[in-house]
Amino acid sequence: MKKIGFIGLGIMGKAMALNLIKAGFSVTVWNRDLDKCAALVAKGAQQANSPRELTETCDITFTIVSDPAAALAICEGPDGVIAGIGNGRSYIDMSTVDDVTSQKIAKAITEAGGRFLEAPVSGTKKPAEDGTLIILAAGDETLYQDALPAFNVMGKMSPYIGEVGQGAKMKLVVNMMMGGMLSIFSEGMSLGLKAGLDGPQILDILGAGAISNPMFKGKGEMLLAENYTTSFPLKHMQKDLRLAISLGEQLNLALPNAAISNEIFKQAIQAGFSDEDIAAIFKVYK
Ligand code: NAP
Repeated sequence: MKKIGFIGLGIMGKAMALNLIKAGFSVTVWNRDLDKCAALVAKGAQQANSPRELTETCDITFTIVSDPAAALAICEGPDGVIAGIGNGRSYIDMSTVDDVTSQKIAKAITEAGGRFLEAPVSGTKKPAEDGTLIILAAGDETLYQDALPAFNVMGKMSPYIGEVGQGAKMKLVVNMMMGGMLSIFSEGMSLGLKAGLDGPQILDILGAGAISNPMFKGKGEMLLAENYTTSFPLKHMQKDLRLAISLGEQLNLALPNAAISNEIFKQAIQAGFSDEDIAAIFKVYK
């Protein structure tokens, strides 16, 4: 593949960009806090001074930033992605945002002569490091084909979901379920522990039955160890629940469980756990 740009070197972006470098791609990086570029430059990346400079000099630019406001912020303005994209260049936004934000960015990119794909990811820090993310691509199918070599480095599967917006919706469905599961799991763990049951034994029994899943195992071990080291920041899960609820509102669909889970995640944010791992939701129940 030609020259790759990478914007957003947070928990996910740093690991994903590193894998692209390791796989031999020519990668240029930019992050709002420019200090975070140094670790990637040390591994062979080049550094751009703005999103505009990056998109002007790269054939395909990948981005993964916090939320809709961040995704729009890096696109807009004289130093933004849209100012640099131009004819023949391409933009792939891997941030978790809503379909409306994604469509707005897609419109601006294509009007500026570029190609656009949304590609939010399922999987957390470890799958990002291991290159085993699930990449939910939607938008320009020719760009999807061109991006597959990079997707194959970052992920274990990258299904094509359809038109712009469908990838965002798929991601929100996945994370709405995840937030709800984590919320009831934490409540159940709290009940079990307060009732005098043994924590590791609860996890063993859950793990042997029909509701066994890797998240209950991984987050369960974390909450028993009171280790909330961040893989997936709690504030981002609350953002995903909020966006899923908003999608439900657009469709006039009641989402009562998601609404309750969202309130619990909001309580966790109010309690100061925003930047801790989603497992810190358990502390609300303690
Ligand atoms: P993170 O560690 O919090 O990193 C956020 C990134 O967004 C940083 O590079 C940050 O720049 C940048 N950013 C925030 N606001 C910005 C703005 N206004 N302008 C420019 N850049 C801005 O988040 P993450 O965990 O990597 O997650 C990134 C995205 O992936 C989110 O949409 C999240 O929901 C999604 N996601 C995360 C996980 C996970 O497990 N972590 C899994 C799947 C999907 P600075 O460094 O300058 O602050």
